[in-house]
Amino acid sequence: MVILGALLLVGIAVFLILQPVLSGKEAPLESAEKDPSDAQFRKRVSLLQLRDAEYEYAMGKLNEEDYLILRKAISAEALAAIREEEEEASGGDEAVDDSGDAELEEEIAKVRARLKGGVFCSECGFPNGPGSRFCSECGSPLQVSHPSVAS
Ligand SMILES: [Zn+2]
Repeated sequence: MVILGALLLVGIAVFLILQPVLSGKEAPLESAEKDPSDAQFRKRVSLLQLRDAEYEYAMGKLNEEDYLILRKAISAEALAAIREEEEEASGGDEAVDDSGDAELEEEIAKVRARLKGGVFCSECGFPNGPGSRFCSECGSPLQVSHPSVAS
């Protein structure tokens, strides 16, 4: 009985899959699964680089001058990628608005907030999230940097 039920289900599934083909309406295969576009990939890479630069600057591995130059270059790349992605999404005819800037600013704000409230490991330098007591990279106990004097 169980086998019969399974066979019936398989039969229904096959029917449902074949139905559009049989009725002449072939499902467009290319729109079924959309690969991340080149622009999306570049945006991701840029944002990751931006994060790295923020971390390295916060850890003192980058001086301010280098950091600003690096940030400017990466931001320009990220913005270009965001604009390109929006053009791809809108078909390319639409006027470019500044939501790309907003998106980027939001990402930067998130990184900043994490750096501000976060705790850097004194052993390995890993940036741990706010309120962390142990390094999630190496497990060392973290010194809580912000002065939270017991009231
Ligand atoms: Zn660590």
